[in-house]
Amino acid sequence: MSSAIEPAVIEPGTVVLVGGGPGDPELITVAGMRALLGADVILYDRLAPTALLDGLDAECVNVGKIPRGAHTPQETTNQMLIDYARDGKRVVRFKGGDSFVFGRGGEEAIALAEAGVPVKVIPGVTSSVAAPELAGIPVTHRGLSQGVTIVAGHVRPDDERCTVNWSALAKTNTTIVILMGVKYLPDIVKKLLDSGLAPDTPAAVVSSAATDKQHTLRARVDEIVNVATREAVTPPSITIIGAVAGLDLKI
Ligand code: SAH
Repeated sequence: MSSAIEPAVIEPGTVVLVGGGPGDPELITVAGMRALLGADVILYDRLAPTALLDGLDAECVNVGKIPRGAHTPQETTNQMLIDYARDGKRVVRFKGGDSFVFGRGGEEAIALAEAGVPVKVIPGVTSSVAAPELAGIPVTHRGLSQGVTIVAGHVRPDDERCTVNWSALAKTNTTIVILMGVKYLPDIVKKLLDSGLAPDTPAAVVSSAATDKQHTLRARVDEIVNVATREAVTPPSITIIGAVAGLDLKI
């Protein structure tokens, strides 16, 4: 392979789902960058490393979803992907992290396949692992945690739309990584503690990882909500609960 990154050859009428990594433009894969360079149209949202779009020839369309703010409904995004592809365009759907980790890439892949549009997936570096890592927290660690569960915290544990068994998670003795969980962190932590999670379990909140605003807070799980509130944590943030959050790697 030559060191220069050449545009990918994308068949007209095809959609490529590209995971762009957690925010730093250098954390996209080579295949992902090649797809961006080979695209006619790029549908992106706010968590994608949008700095990479500067200077590209492609038409760039923002289909971003801001939490609880104005957003493009998923059905509209799906239809736009289909329409651009049917128009003979080389289409890239560009998002933050990995498309299949809360990226709704699975829904897009299904919608495209049902419409008869060829679709290809390029995995990305997911923030669920990279954000802790950039803060010096390995999501697993020999002797401390033999596993990790990545969960969405966008609804309260007692919400009828919640399908996570938080009580079971409180007892797994493995790492819990919560995405989209800033607003309901107090409800989630209360549920975990009520379900038997040890109050002195280490926790951390990593905000805006892989950007120049990256910031980490650490506290025992029974104090993490107070600390996060005092520091006015905002999305995008990831909460890590488990022994690994107490590690100091000294890196
Ligand atoms: N597909 C993405 C996740 C999308 S869900 C991935 O694999 O990374 C959106 C959530 O991801 C945010 O609410 C936040 O919890 C997390 N997130 C994404 N980018 C982040 C970043 N740079 N720093 C911290 N959290 C981030």
